[in-house]
Amino acid sequence: AAKATGKNAVRFFDPDMEQQISQRLRLESELRRALARDEFELYYQPQFHASGALFGYEALIRWQHPVRGYLGPSEFIEVAEENNLIVKMGEWALRRACEQASKWMRTYPREVIRVSVNISPRQFHSPNFVQSVAMALNNSGLSPWLLKLELTENLMLDHIEQIIQKMARLSDLGVILSLDDFGTGFSSLYHLKTLPITEIKIDRSFVRDLNSDPSDLEIVRSIIDLSHNLHKSVIAEGVETREQYQLLQAMGCDAYQGYYLGRPACADSLKIDRVQDISSSIY
Ligand code: C2E
Ligand code: MG
Ligand code: MG
Ligand code: MG
Repeated sequence: AAKATGKNAVRFFDPDMEQQISQRLRLESELRRALARDEFELYYQPQFHASGALFGYEALIRWQHPVRGYLGPSEFIEVAEENNLIVKMGEWALRRACEQASKWMRTYPREVIRVSVNISPRQFHSPNFVQSVAMALNNSGLSPWLLKLELTENLMLDHIEQIIQKMARLSDLGVILSLDDFGTGFSSLYHLKTLPITEIKIDRSFVRDLNSDPSDLEIVRSIIDLSHNLHKSVIAEGVETREQYQLLQAMGCDAYQGYYLGRPACADSLKIDRVQDISSSIY
């Protein structure tokens, strides 16, 4: 044990650190309970084609915490990601999003309303992942092509052969794969060329200063051109202003998402109009 009395003694029990650890542990057990008690909810943020037509929604998880109120993912995803809770949470989100999209499918049979679901690296790598996607589709009755999975570059750090295989199986199911937060992680152009990814999602950080930072403008232009040269569709996230929207339009971006066009909201309060016709679906 430490004799924490001397001048240069090591302090094993930093009170701040102790507090941080106990907060983490509390959050962990609260998350576990939240799953059992069904305290999570999905919000949906619209995605628009360059023509202005709505073609889908990204599902974003929220936590109705019994004491702290509504919490966004930044408050809990990291802790969930550090243990296997993210897998259960992600499977729940996948099931719920497919059920919702299946309702849209039945309500708007002539139109395209996709749902886009975020998949954490740990969930992607879990052994039953492909099966859980197949089951979510089966149980909800959702057509596979109406489901989009948002994967991040960070899941491609290693075991590339296995990743290629898994993505191929997902793409065989008929679902669409999107590469989220593009440009912030570690994917190589080799991956981009090889993997069955249909859509590239430009990270918000490149969109934010689009009208003031010439480097960001060139980066975004390059991502758009690269995507098109590789026959992939490209969507910008975090579009907050008319200026950003117009710059992106001028550079030929295919699709848009952001507060300028629509904020995330619960399923019941969505205004669903100007939906893309099934005959003019992109991808
Ligand atoms: P993401 O997938 O990159 O999602 C986009 C985030 O940007 C969302 O934050 C969204 O609300 C926010 N956003 C959208 N438009 C704008 C805008 O114009 N301006 C700004 N400043 N922000 C905008 P949110 O909902 O807090 O989610 C944060 C992250 O949490 C997501 O980033 C995603 O990585 C993760 N996440 C959310 N739901 C799930 C889930 O069900 N499963 C997993 N594994 N991760 C999730
Ligand atoms: Mg996303
Ligand atoms: Mg994103
Ligand atoms: Mg992002």
